[in-house]
Amino acid sequence: MLHLTNAPIAQYSTFNIGGIAKDIYIPQNIDELIDIATTYPNAIILGNGSKILFPDSPLTTPLILTNHLKNISVTNNTITADCGVHLAKLNQVALKYSLTGLEFSYGIPGRLGGAIFMNAGAHGGEFADIIHSVTYLKNGKVMSTTSPSFSYRSSQFKTDGGIILQATLKLSNGNANDIKAKMSQLIALRVASQPLNHPNCGSTFKRINGEAVYKYIDGVNMRGVKCGGAQVSTKHSGFIVNLGGATARDVTTLVKTIKQKVKDKYNINLQEEMITIS
Ligand SMILES: Cc1cc2nc3c(=O)[nH]c(=O)nc-3n(C[C@H](O)[C@H](O)[C@H](O)COP(=O)(O)OP(=O)(O)OC[C@H]3O[C@@H](n4cnc5c(N)ncnc54)[C@H](O)[C@@H]3O)c2cc1C
Repeated sequence: MLHLTNAPIAQYSTFNIGGIAKDIYIPQNIDELIDIATTYPNAIILGNGSKILFPDSPLTTPLILTNHLKNISVTNNTITADCGVHLAKLNQVALKYSLTGLEFSYGIPGRLGGAIFMNAGAHGGEFADIIHSVTYLKNGKVMSTTSPSFSYRSSQFKTDGGIILQATLKLSNGNANDIKAKMSQLIALRVASQPLNHPNCGSTFKRINGEAVYKYIDGVNMRGVKCGGAQVSTKHSGFIVNLGGATARDVTTLVKTIKQKVKDKYNINLQEEMITIS
């Protein structure tokens, strides 16, 4: 187990924002994850940090990184992987074995545990559609379920707790050329529409009744508005980007301003998809 003390955390979030963490633990296998998570039941589990806003002030709650947990195996049309496997890697493996069903997630910069926790989705697909089973740690016990509950950008792990250790995805046999073409098409859509040239953490807010919120953000003239080093993206106003040197305070100020203006004009309460750690 690696243990870092008083270490900078911005590098562990795709927002590239954050102060210092007092303790960062990096388990090297699932048994070490179980041990450290049992020792520190309130620790923050981190996937790829692509939905996280870390605080500017020192983080005293231990942080557990899952990025060294990378086992993957393929049996027939299922892939079993550790929580720390990046979605890009999972997609490469699915392509190699001509397994289809995961393509929707290509380009989501998360790891398997974070993707299941968030029920990440895009282009009409979401993790709920392809889960066969999840092994997780809850109240010090390792458990398994073949019917975890999911809702829009949420899961039982988000609402009721539980650390996702490993999961098995059920895919279908497909054609490698078709899978590759779909992956390329979906990446092109992301490059065209998302501000990938600046650090960010994806959509700031959840959809409202299935509707994207950028139109409300545009409706209150927040596109392009800056606070310190943070800016409501000019390319996609559903994203906040770090232009350089942004602080968590800059981002939360923009979030509060957007929420207030949208509430005042449309009587809509926007809910954050971004997870703010304090
Ligand atoms: C450019 C960009 C594009 C994006 N596009 C999309 C998109 O199209 N669709 C979409 O849904 N999301 C999108 N996202 C958001 C993000 O990538 C997803 O929410 C992703 O699933 C988060 O995974 P992660 O591993 O980075 O999780 P993290 O950000 O590390 O963590 C998110 C939450 O999951 C918890 N968590 C992580 N691992 C575990 C575990 N093993 N057990 C229990 N809890 C855990 C964390 O504690 C935290 O509460 C995008 C983000 C960016 C930056």
